Amino acid sequence: MSLLGPFAGFGVTFRQIFKRKVTIQYPEVKRVKPQRFHGRHVLNRYPDGMEKCIGCELCAGVCPARCIYVRGKDNPPDAPVSPGERYGFVYEINMLRCIFCALCVEACPTEAITMTHLFEMSVDNRRDAIYTRDDLLMDEDGAVPHPQPDSILIDKGELRLGDGWMRATASSGRAAYEGVVAWTPTLGVGTRPPETGQNPDPEPGALLPKLEEPQPQPKGLRRLLDRLPLPGRRRTGNGERETGNRQ
Ligand code: SF4
Ligand code: SF4
Repeated sequence: MSLLGPFAGFGVTFRQIFKRKVTIQYPEVKRVKPQRFHGRHVLNRYPDGMEKCIGCELCAGVCPARCIYVRGKDNPPDAPVSPGERYGFVYEINMLRCIFCALCVEACPTEAITMTHLFEMSVDNRRDAIYTRDDLLMDEDGAVPHPQPDSILIDKGELRLGDGWMRATASSGRAAYEGVVAWTPTLGVGTRPPETGQNPDPEPGALLPKLEEPQPQPKGLRRLLDRLPLPGRRRTGNGERETGNRQ
């Protein structure tokens, strides 16, 4: 063994000193999160205060961690809670089981459940990790409740951010829909702007396929000639005429 062998390990350490650090002084310094960051959930309301959740339980059905529990209840006819037939009477998410995959967001037909940018949810007992309807539903001013108080770790402004996935305007993968808003407004934030994609300033709907201009109908003699059973023209099953030879 070389006499310098024991010092080779110090060489590795020494080289790392001059490399760019990948760690930051959290929580004093925080990284900017991506638009599609998956933080804690929120149950949204429409601008008129109605709850978006219709208690359909699709989110619970799709959840791979089985951590959502929803019970729907018929809306009272004289004071409906949601525009649907039912509303989410009980809504719970067990955050200890949640894997923050956002499948519940994808499954929701009314954009009722979305995810924010806040991920600080530390608790000192398991029960507090179950977020109930009271913890999830935004209040009638559009503010989102959070069980923990403001602190250096918790920036409640992050509860208004997010929904990046929902604001993807080409969710089917069709670039033509970039910039086309297809979601409902939310209490407190209104209609969220579309997520910007690769094109930094897309013209909404600029790439949508253009409808063909309607062709003028033939008139007079032309229309009469069109109706004549000329050679090479025949009627199809739905009454339209075809011309030309068919093999
Ligand atoms: S983010 Fe995924 S794991 Fe969490 S509640 Fe939604 S569907 Fe379930
Ligand atoms: S959050 Fe959406 S998917 Fe879940 S019960 Fe309510 S409306 Fe249905």
